[in-house]
Order: sequence, then C-alpha cells, then structure tokens
Amino acid sequence: MIEKDLTPETITFLGTGGARIMVATQILASGGMWLNLSGTEILIDPGPGCIVQSTKRKLRAEKLSAIILSHRHLDHAGDLNVMVEAMTLGGFKPRGRLFLPADALGNEPVIFSYLKHYLDDIEILEAGKTYAIGDVTFTTPVRHEHAVETYGLRFKTRQHTFSYIADTRYFAGLAKSYDGELIIINIVFNEPRPNVAHLSAADAGRLISEIKPKTAILTHFGMSMWRARPWKVAEQLSKETGIRVISARDGMKFDLARLEG
Ligand SMILES: [Zn+2]
Repeated sequence: MIEKDLTPETITFLGTGGARIMVATQILASGGMWLNLSGTEILIDPGPGCIVQSTKRKLRAEKLSAIILSHRHLDHAGDLNVMVEAMTLGGFKPRGRLFLPADALGNEPVIFSYLKHYLDDIEILEAGKTYAIGDVTFTTPVRHEHAVETYGLRFKTRQHTFSYIADTRYFAGLAKSYDGELIIINIVFNEPRPNVAHLSAADAGRLISEIKPKTAILTHFGMSMWRARPWKVAEQLSKETGIRVISARDGMKFDLARLEG
C-alpha cells in the first residue's frame, strides 16, 4: 500500500507590495515568496527587505535549494545579492542554484560577479522550458509582455500543481499558458491602465474565469489596489467567478493542503 506523503507544502508571502511607491514606503513589504515543497525550499523574487522578512520568520537561507527570479525589476530582485550570500553562508559553503532570464545577466547584471562563484549553478530561463529542483519541476511557459524579459512559473510538486503569473500586461494566450489547482497573480492596479504593462483586478477576474483553479491568490499590490483594499477586491472576484479568491497578507503562510477537498 502506498502511503500518502504528508510532508507539508507551503508558500510564505514575504511581502505583498509591488511597484515603486509601495516599495519606497513599505506600507506593504516586498520580500517575495518562500516555497517549502515537501522539504525542497525555493525563494522566488527576493525584493527589497527579503532578508529582514525571512529571518524574522525563522526561514533559513542556508536551507534554500534555489532562488528564481521572474525578472530583473528592483521590486523582484533588490535583495538577490544578499540572499545569495545568505544561502551560501557568505560564500563559505558554496551551494544552491539561481534561475533568471538572460537579460538579468546582461549589460547591468543583477548579481555581483564575486557571488556567482558561490553558486552551484546559474540557469537561464527560456520560454517553454522545464527545470527540475529535487522532486519539484517548473516550467516557464511563455515570455510575458513587460518592460524587461519576464517569465511566470508553472510548478509541479510531489503533491500539487500551481502557477505564479508574474508581472505582465494581459495578452491573448496568457490564460492558456497557466493551470493548476492554485494560481497566484501579481496585480498592481485596481483599475485597468492599458499603457502600463501590469495586470488589473479585472484582468485577474478574466484569468481566474478562464483558468478555473480551485483557489486564486492575489498579491503584488500597488497603491491603487491597496486603497481599494485587496480583501474587498478578492471578495468581489470570488462572487463574480464562483472561485475562491484570497488576497495575500504580508507573512501569510498558505498550506497547499487547503486545496484538497
Ligand atoms: Zn516588473
């Protein structure tokens, strides 16, 4: 008889703020997401304050297997160098992997050259490719429409499937690139702003209706979303789509077991 693996799978939101003013004021933190997937720990988008938010919650960088960067913008990459140094115990214990788009290593690399040698591996994200970190695999299905090279992530773990839809403008084909029991959506704006390459609350509604996950989590809020109160927006989207929509809170630890039943 195969026993069900009950090792917890969790996502901790080290921040739920996004874009320049929110990062500058830290009304909402901007530390990214820390995944623990049956013991494989992965950090996504370590924005400014990640080291403070993670150590405060006793999350230990030396346990990370990898850091993944969806794109090079400061609100996603501000603490990358300090987190690489923490992951490798200041370089005394070289280890861990870094995944990032090619342009994050371009003219103005987001990582200092001396830190590159501390890592086991640096892997370049490309559209349509699948990568493995221990038992966890993830795919970067499509290049997003954003000011710099950006990818979202579709994860498959021992127990669950979920997607992270990082910064982008809404485009045809976005919804069909992602699936899973859970989708996490970065929405900066409450009202649509067609000239800015970010998703709005209405875009999130379209994505949720098309993808039909069991649960959707909204995060990466700019000032207009904050003023609209993310939990109210989530409640409204739940009503409109008939799907459970949650607004992430700073420090929220979401247990993927909640997706069952
Ligand atoms: Zn961005």
